[in-house]
Amino acid sequence: MRPLLIAGNWKMNKDLFETLAFLQGLRAYAQKHKEERVQIVVAPAYPFLLTAVDLLKDTPVKVAAQDVSSNEDGAFTGEVSASMLASLHLSFCIVGHSECRQYHSDTDDVINIKLQRVIKNGMKPIFCIGEKLEERQSGRTNEVLQRQLAIGLNEINLSAGKDLVIAYEPVWAIGTGQVATPQQAQEAQAFIRNFLLQKYGAEVADTVQILYGGSVKPDNIKEIILQPDIDGALIGGASLKLDLFTAMIDLAKEAVKIK
Ligand code: PEP
Repeated sequence: MRPLLIAGNWKMNKDLFETLAFLQGLRAYAQKHKEERVQIVVAPAYPFLLTAVDLLKDTPVKVAAQDVSSNEDGAFTGEVSASMLASLHLSFCIVGHSECRQYHSDTDDVINIKLQRVIKNGMKPIFCIGEKLEERQSGRTNEVLQRQLAIGLNEINLSAGKDLVIAYEPVWAIGTGQVATPQQAQEAQAFIRNFLLQKYGAEVADTVQILYGGSVKPDNIKEIILQPDIDGALIGGASLKLDLFTAMIDLAKEAVKIK
């Protein structure tokens, strides 16, 4: 069975002091975390990544960046490259989040370059895809996912699923409180796994973790992650409070025993 992954995307929240307070609490929690089938990831803002790596280094918690530049290096004011992130010993990098697609004009082609840079620099991308409300309502969900996957993973050769995490995040469910039903999420994620099967074969398709993201909270996480093709959650709002975040990790520990 694939391990479950519970990832918190903090977006542009928490200053240094709030970050430290959360991470110290998470560190104390994680020092007692022994369930290897439940992995934990946090994605603080860029300025605090090194602090997070340092504070969590003797725990199983891994740190992710929230985005990366599509450029390698040079005159790109304000951007942060994959090699810079890798030099912090980051394990993961979120790529293609719907907010980056919406506000930073991340196209599928740009996301493809970002994915290549992250993998080349030895980090694991958490590659976000998902349809908008009008796309779902007009029956185009699979068509959108197919396009995002085909262009996003173009020329990316995976010999093992361990190099990639995919997050299915329907745009209409992000930050809206309107979570997909477990059946809607499972259906989309089975489609994604089938894409991986066609492109990379069974070994990769069986090992890539596919997360669900979109208004996940303690009261809905368990039935979502119990679905066969859902291997954890990418969580925004509810990951900002330590007690909610650790409650969701505890629920994942229960889920992994019965999955
Ligand atoms: C996200 O930002 O990836 C996300 C899923 O946010 P939220 O949990 O707040 O919907």
